[in-house]
Amino acid sequence: MTFQNTKAFAKELDQKDTLSRYKNEFIFPKVNNKDVIYFTGNSLGLQPKLTKSYVDEVMNDWANLAVEGHFYANKPWWDYHERFANPLSKIVGALPSEVTVMNTLTVNLHLLMVSFYRPTAKRYKILCEAKAFPSDQYMIQSQVQFHGFHPNDAIVEIQRRDGEHNIRLEDVLSKIEEVGDALALVLIGGVNYYTGQVFDMKTITKAGHKAGAFVGWDLAHAAGNVKLDLHEWDVDFAAWCSYKYMNSGPGNASGCFIHEKHHNNKDLHRFAGWWGHNKERRFKMEPVFDPVQGADGWQISNLPILSLAPYLASVALFDEIGMDALIEKRNLITAYLEFVLYEISKEVGGSFEIITPKNKEERACQLSVYLHGEGRSLFEYLMKNGVITDWREPNVIRLAPVPLYCSFEDMYEFGQILKAGIST
Ligand SMILES: *Cc1c(COP(=O)(O)O)cnc(C)c1O
Repeated sequence: MTFQNTKAFAKELDQKDTLSRYKNEFIFPKVNNKDVIYFTGNSLGLQPKLTKSYVDEVMNDWANLAVEGHFYANKPWWDYHERFANPLSKIVGALPSEVTVMNTLTVNLHLLMVSFYRPTAKRYKILCEAKAFPSDQYMIQSQVQFHGFHPNDAIVEIQRRDGEHNIRLEDVLSKIEEVGDALALVLIGGVNYYTGQVFDMKTITKAGHKAGAFVGWDLAHAAGNVKLDLHEWDVDFAAWCSYKYMNSGPGNASGCFIHEKHHNNKDLHRFAGWWGHNKERRFKMEPVFDPVQGADGWQISNLPILSLAPYLASVALFDEIGMDALIEKRNLITAYLEFVLYEISKEVGGSFEIITPKNKEERACQLSVYLHGEGRSLFEYLMKNGVITDWREPNVIRLAPVPLYCSFEDMYEFGQILKAGIST
């Protein structure tokens, strides 16, 4: 398709967009009495209008039923989390028994490492990407220290080549081979939070297994954004937060994946609690832990229902739309945004540099852009003019044109505001 940087053309794309009506299903902050153009859904997704009714339902059940809500609420609380199994498994490409929701992301990665980071004197290294999200770095460092190893020795980071912004697949694969039988675990962010690079999870998982390691993925920027096929890819475990592309609200619950092949393995350590205990016998208060079959067997505490309610509303929306339709629009709107950025760059005689990979397989809903020659004042100008972006020093702007609630016209309008901000 040949794009044009005009309002009429953007509107035409909106008219053809089968998902355009979903924009109206979200609540936008306002600046100057106008809905903002929201590019930070990769950090905190907008609130779906549907969400409040899910939360109200729990509040009302609590008011009217109190403790009886555990069993007699409209959606009983004692197995509320099981409502996620079907819709969530479709979003991440899993069997329903392989997914569950609990805790928050970094906490879940720690808990999953109890099961999947089992270092020995010989096999103890963890492979991750250089400049991983800070929480992941701290998590991995503290895990290797907990097991008596030194981070400098036990953590192997895959570096970017000099002058390159992204990590090459061949470098990941050769690093896996190099570490070989010292490799205990590969744990990478499926989509890099800074550059938006999407890793080839299937190929890397296979290579990790060939070296004899477990392979896990942090899917914070991938869940609800990219096509995942965790079961088929034979991934051992994964976890993600729900407040980015999945719009479930600040700091909200995390989703987990544990491959079916591990469900019966009694040798896998896990930290247990009563909510992971045999469902039918949970309230018999038995002394010996008997885990639920499947990912639910990794549950620990009874669940924060008020936090799961918004997540369940969000999952319902994703289930209605389906990942394929979302991804189709995502590809088009990301490409259009890229086009607009380069057009504006030309018009202002600038030199924007998009550091997100160019090819479709390695990018999703994010463009990270170096605005060479521009400073933080540009970011502030955008904010004041109703465009919410994410600014990283020195001058990288991260833009996520989330297909659920961003329009093509938003992309055009953004370009015009950006141009005005640079010219002033
Ligand atoms: C957003 C994000 C986190 C956040 O972790 P929380 O435990 O939810 O605070 C962790 N890792 C990555 C890669 C992220 O993008």
